[in-house]
Amino acid sequence: MTPCQEKAPILRNQRLQGSYYRVDLRAEQIAATVAPGQFVHVQLPAFEHHVLRRPFSVFNAEPATGTLSLIYKTVGEGTAHLSGLGAGVGLDLLGPLGHGYSVPPPGQTAVVVAGGYGCAATYLLVRRSPGPCIVLLGGRTAEDLLLVDEFTALGADVRLATDDGSRGHRGVVTDLLEAALEQTANPFVVACGPNPMLKAVCRLVDRRGLDAEVSLDHAMCCGVGACFACVVKLTADNADGWEYVRTCKSGPVFPARLVRWDEG
Ligand SMILES: Cc1cc2nc3c(=O)[nH]c(=O)nc-3n(C[C@H](O)[C@H](O)[C@H](O)COP(=O)(O)OP(=O)(O)OC[C@H]3O[C@@H](n4cnc5c(N)ncnc54)[C@H](O)[C@@H]3O)c2cc1C
Repeated sequence: MTPCQEKAPILRNQRLQGSYYRVDLRAEQIAATVAPGQFVHVQLPAFEHHVLRRPFSVFNAEPATGTLSLIYKTVGEGTAHLSGLGAGVGLDLLGPLGHGYSVPPPGQTAVVVAGGYGCAATYLLVRRSPGPCIVLLGGRTAEDLLLVDEFTALGADVRLATDDGSRGHRGVVTDLLEAALEQTANPFVVACGPNPMLKAVCRLVDRRGLDAEVSLDHAMCCGVGACFACVVKLTADNADGWEYVRTCKSGPVFPARLVRWDEG
């Protein structure tokens, strides 16, 4: 689907917990076509002439009402500015961009591994999955566990882990993945979160002879494949055995078995 540029008025912009926010926008064209794991590139009004757009996964889309929702964490200048914008302010969106997740085939159990705001990229996938879903949410503290009620409302089996033990299993989310894979005959593993978590997921599934689809959190500039600022090295079927691909265009979702984590 060809991406479009859409002026999207904010309907609601509210703090969820800690430094996490949810913004709902009216963006009819993007809401109608977005696939799970795709993202939008957002031009913030105050930065129109001098700062790059910021990429955010589409958390949810309601084509019937033209509503598009994003979850974001305030980490710097752009997201701090976004958190202060109220209803009615228009955001310039480019999207839907990138290559998202495959929808799990019927007969397979989706096992979703998400760290922090990574859960936003996986919500539509769970919503559109034809079969059962196990959702493993991880964070440093209870404050980093998002969308627990929303995934539960979709009927998913939601399991939680925090580094400090403030909610759920005390430890990393990949501990939960080990246990879930022990219990699941035909898993379809997808993951989104910080790169160290994704790397651990890739190692774990590889040890078990499985694959996964992982959404890489790679800083990007243009978002449409023009600038090559977001290349990653992947195993390829060519004479060299590898290639550089653009995360914004060929990804952000890639097969785990192809990602060359420790090579530049
Ligand atoms: C495909 C994709 C989907 C994303 N989806 C979401 C989402 O759903 N919700 C969300 O909160 N964020 C998401 N991000 C990350 C988000 O784009 C950045 O947090 C945001 O651009 C930071 O903007 P800023 O101006 O506030 O921070 P800046 O002032 O630009 O940076 C502040 C700090 O954040 C770091 N940073 C900036 N971009 C990234 C990044 N991509 N990954 C890791 N660290 C970064 C910088 O190095 C710096 O330390 C996504 C990124 C990508 C590539």
